[in-house]
Amino acid sequence: MEEDCLFCKIIKGEVPSTKVYEDEYVYAFKDINPAATVHILIIPKKHISSLEDLKNGDEEYVWKIHEAMQKISKAQGVSESGYRIIVNCGKDAGQEVMHLHYHFLAGEKFGDKIV
Ligand code: AMP
Ligand code: ZN
Repeated sequence: MEEDCLFCKIIKGEVPSTKVYEDEYVYAFKDINPAATVHILIIPKKHISSLEDLKNGDEEYVWKIHEAMQKISKAQGVSESGYRIIVNCGKDAGQEVMHLHYHFLAGEKFGDKIV
């Protein structure tokens, strides 16, 4: 955990969030500024700054994040209709919070929009 990391504070409950899913490895919560009808952030409970910082040994986090997406898609009723996952990595992608997070977007048709 990183002292000054917003998402570490959310995991610890020091900053409030609307929890959607949680297990030993993963925390998922509603994005405060939704870009779609359903906009959930899925994060590892370990502080990993970005995709670039994922390491050998983090496999369990990667699988658990993906398993969480499957569980969330079912819980949100969008496993059939579909959803979009986005990970911003670094400044050109506009990553604002330096704690790896997967945007789960659903509830509408995104067409050929990139985000
Ligand atoms: P990114 O631009 O990929 O780093 O995404 C950061 C996301 O975190 C944005 O979609 C923000 O709306 C979201 N966000 C920032 N602060 C909070 C917060 N306190 N609770 C929930 N989502 C947040
Ligand atoms: Zn963190």
